[in-house]
Amino acid sequence: MKIDWSLKSMEERRSKFFSPGLKKFMPFSEPITFKSGKGQYLWDENDKKYTDLLGMNVCISVGHAHPSIVEAANNQALELPHCTTMFYHPVPLHYAEELIETFPKNNNWVVHLTNSGSEAVDLALMMARSFTGNIDFLSLQNAYHGPTSGAQALTGISGFRHSIVNVPGISFVPEPNLYRGILGSKTENYLDAIDQTIKTSTSGKVAGMIAETIQGYTGIVEMPMGYLKGAADRIRAAGGVMIIDEVQAGVGRTGQSFWAFEKHDLIPDIIVVAKGIGNGYPIGAVVAKKEIAESMEDKFMFHTYGSNPVSSAAARQVLKVIKEEKLQENALQVGKVFLERLKDLKQKYQEIGDVRGKGLMLAIEIVKSRKTKEPDPDLTSYIFDQTREQGIIVSKSGPNRNVLRIVPPLCLNEEDVDFISDALENCFKSSKK
Ligand code: PMP
Repeated sequence: MKIDWSLKSMEERRSKFFSPGLKKFMPFSEPITFKSGKGQYLWDENDKKYTDLLGMNVCISVGHAHPSIVEAANNQALELPHCTTMFYHPVPLHYAEELIETFPKNNNWVVHLTNSGSEAVDLALMMARSFTGNIDFLSLQNAYHGPTSGAQALTGISGFRHSIVNVPGISFVPEPNLYRGILGSKTENYLDAIDQTIKTSTSGKVAGMIAETIQGYTGIVEMPMGYLKGAADRIRAAGGVMIIDEVQAGVGRTGQSFWAFEKHDLIPDIIVVAKGIGNGYPIGAVVAKKEIAESMEDKFMFHTYGSNPVSSAAARQVLKVIKEEKLQENALQVGKVFLERLKDLKQKYQEIGDVRGKGLMLAIEIVKSRKTKEPDPDLTSYIFDQTREQGIIVSKSGPNRNVLRIVPPLCLNEEDVDFISDALENCFKSSKK
């Protein structure tokens, strides 16, 4: 059958053949289709061009259809599309070595390749429990870590938690959100909450804690300086390990460092990576200190497509492209200009409660009143639908659905920022009409 691009037939097929659970995942009030992409741009089936500020959910790190990445993957696919982990193949091994080179030296890191971020999160949780012999585990309220059983159990947003028996033993601590966190704007309060939670909701011994350096889906909430280190100190004192989820904030996105945690004076025990490491090719990884990973060596643990040579070939090239095209530096420079433009926008529109972020990981939070900070999901939905008309793709995110999340491919340039700023301004202007 010929590929049918008509919206009507796709809607019919989605409704008839896709599991109903996938329906919820619809961004705009009307469906949208993308036919092709290049760099930071996308085209729909009518050849309308969009600037992609979502990067297909932060997967496109260095640009859509990057020629050298497609070539690396295609060359590997022509030779051997898959080689299961039990047989030797050099490509995933080279990737593991090159990935480790991007992490702080002398930590005896090892890599366990998976197919996705949530598989890596599940594995990291298992490793922490296996290594420490403890069960209790901490995660942040409002965090998103994925849909699988372990990752869902670590996700602190009810909209993503199904009424099923999830992995037990998880306690949630308040997210240190200095704009609207429930314990106010002092980092110390959030660290005290960790102490309290360990004392009251665990056996006193924990397996660990997981946190993103910048909560992505939650609406670009950066952990305040000192929080991650303070959390790690407390967790380690209670016998646990500190896991950092770099699925969204990693691979140079923040501009300041390759991995976002590096600016937080912390060496995690385990790091979870995915999405942007593959630039659209499915791959995730747990990077762990060897002695921690060793705790699982007695039993089988592999994912059939983990160590896939095509994804590994693509991921190797992603690391190369980020270096060669200076994309981390670009994220820093363009991100600075972008944030300034968002601040200008905030000056003009009272309904913007906050703008924030690092590098090319930015957000606009929309509120009913700056004083009460009451979220305005309806206005956010309106603005969001307008962004599409203006030719930009952003994400409507956060537990209150009132944050426009901006996480474009790292090749975005300053001319794009001019275009996007005008487009965003048009959206806010039109809401006044
Ligand atoms: N961690 C974070 C921070 C994520 O944003 C996501 C996906 N949005 C995941 C884990 C799960 O990754 P995946 O969807 O590849 O399983």
